[in-house]
Amino acid sequence: MKIHEYQGKDILRQYGVAVPRGIACFSVDEAVAAAQKLGGSLWVVKAQIHAGGRGKGGGVKVAKSLDDVRTYATSILGMQLKTHQTGPDGQKVRRLLIEEGADIKKEIYLAAVTDRVTQKICVMGSSEGGMDIEEVAATHPEKIHKVFVDPATGLTDADADALSSKIGIPADSIAQARSVLKGLYKAFWETDASLAEINPLILTGDGRVVALDAKWNFDSNALYRHPEITEYRDLDEEDPAEIEASKFDLAYIQLDGNIGCLVNGAGLAMATMDTIKLFGGEPANFLDVGGGATTEKVTEAFKIMLGNPNVKAILVNIFGGIMRCDVIAEGVVSASRAVGLKVPLVVRMKGTNEDLGKKILAESGLPIISADTMAQAAEKVVAAAKKA
Ligand code: ADP
Ligand code: MG
Repeated sequence: MKIHEYQGKDILRQYGVAVPRGIACFSVDEAVAAAQKLGGSLWVVKAQIHAGGRGKGGGVKVAKSLDDVRTYATSILGMQLKTHQTGPDGQKVRRLLIEEGADIKKEIYLAAVTDRVTQKICVMGSSEGGMDIEEVAATHPEKIHKVFVDPATGLTDADADALSSKIGIPADSIAQARSVLKGLYKAFWETDASLAEINPLILTGDGRVVALDAKWNFDSNALYRHPEITEYRDLDEEDPAEIEASKFDLAYIQLDGNIGCLVNGAGLAMATMDTIKLFGGEPANFLDVGGGATTEKVTEAFKIMLGNPNVKAILVNIFGGIMRCDVIAEGVVSASRAVGLKVPLVVRMKGTNEDLGKKILAESGLPIISADTMAQAAEKVVAAAKKA
């Protein structure tokens, strides 16, 4: 689960990491009032969406007067902000962060991520922070420094200080950077985060170390033990189809292709997507209906998948184990009727109650294309999507 920058900064503040003073706002008047309340003569108007790259997309503006704050808040609130992380349609801006302007002497990159290979927490940083970190990673990977932290010991002072000096923290600021690095690590660990990124972490003119941005991602499987994090959830930022799917405990991820996939089991779902690609098609979604799905659940899954206007053909690929083929067949038939199915449907089912499932499909009178092997199924659905 992702959260907004201002929420991420709340967490950092709680762990002793310095962040600029700021106020989250939902309207232009609130934004102007927030700037007045913060005082000073330099503010930053920042779009709050669950994606990075806002600065380059025009979602972060420096204001030198209250009139500027009003102008920028008016143009940013409600805009469809496009960044390299939002996808081509962009994301509508519904919240702003009004923050005091910082005196930036140097922009540094700092992040913590779970590293699956070493089963440790990777804390990484670079002296080349700011808006072009992706390019640094691609062209100068040697400028990104990493420490792999064993959760049993945590981030030591020595490791923190060694990383700080590699990423360009001057000697006078090393002690401050140590508390930033240790605060970030502790916050990451205690909240069950999967990513915590501060880009940029800045050095100010007077030598302070301040987090100017905050990007967090949390392990959704651990949210049950973090009501304080779950409260940050903003459904406006999430895909409506994925929210609907989560209500029915379905694992659904929308993708860019045009072939809808309904499969049981995450492994089979991935293999199905691979096979579709092998035959030149593009999956429109990942959808795992799980092991113990009921007819109702399959019907809901079908509806969610068909809610995607890009779907030109559907492949149902079921391995009947605990899941019975007849249950899937009933779900497919009832959902097809309920939604008035207009796209070709290829079904491949194997295993428990396979014959019964096939009989239900055949007797339904629906124009279902059946397939015996996975390759055949993929070939047929790719052909059907191309014709549509
Ligand atoms: P994003 O990463 O989504 O582009 P950031 O929060 O990193 O958004 O902001 C982009 C850039 O705007 C930063 O690299 C920094 O140069 C500038 N900036 C952000 N917040 C402030 C601030 N409070 N004061 C001064 N400059 C800022
Ligand atoms: Mg940033």
